[in-house]
Amino acid sequence: MPELRGHHLICLHFFDGEGYSETFTVNLRNILQKTGHSPVEICSGPDEVCAKCPYLKDTTCNYSINAERDIREMDSRALEMLNLSPGERVGWEGIRKSVPHIFSEWYESYCKECEWITACRKNTLFQGLLSDKKSDITEGE
Ligand code: SF4
Repeated sequence: MPELRGHHLICLHFFDGEGYSETFTVNLRNILQKTGHSPVEICSGPDEVCAKCPYLKDTTCNYSINAERDIREMDSRALEMLNLSPGERVGWEGIRKSVPHIFSEWYESYCKECEWITACRKNTLFQGLLSDKKSDITEGE
C-alpha cells in the first residue's frame, strides 16, 4: 500500500514526468501505478516519495534551509483542506475528486511560489483547474 504525506496527496495529481532525478521519477511512477489498485495510507513525515529523493537526509527534508518545518506545515494544511488525518487509508480517485474543490486555495497558498510550477503547468489537470480558476475570477468581476 502506498504511503503518502499530506502535500503529496495533492501535488502528485499534477506529476507529469519531471522530478529531481531518474530514480525519483521512476519511483513516483511506480507509486502512482500502485494508487490505481490500492488505497493510500496517509503518513506524517517522510513518505515513499521522499524515500528516493536526493534531499532526504536521514528523516529530514533538506530541500531548503527551513524545508523540514515548511513542508510539515504544508502537509498539515493539505490534510486540513482534504479533511484527512495521518493513519487514514483513502482511495486515490476520491482524493482526486476533492482536488478541484481545494485547488484555488492551494494554488494561492503554495503553487504560486513553488519552484516546480513550470512542471505542473504542463499537466492537463493543472491547466484545466487553473483555467477554471481564472474564469471564476473573471465572472466575479
Ligand atoms: S523535497 Fe523534501 S518533501 Fe519533497 S520529496 Fe524531497 S524529501 Fe520529500
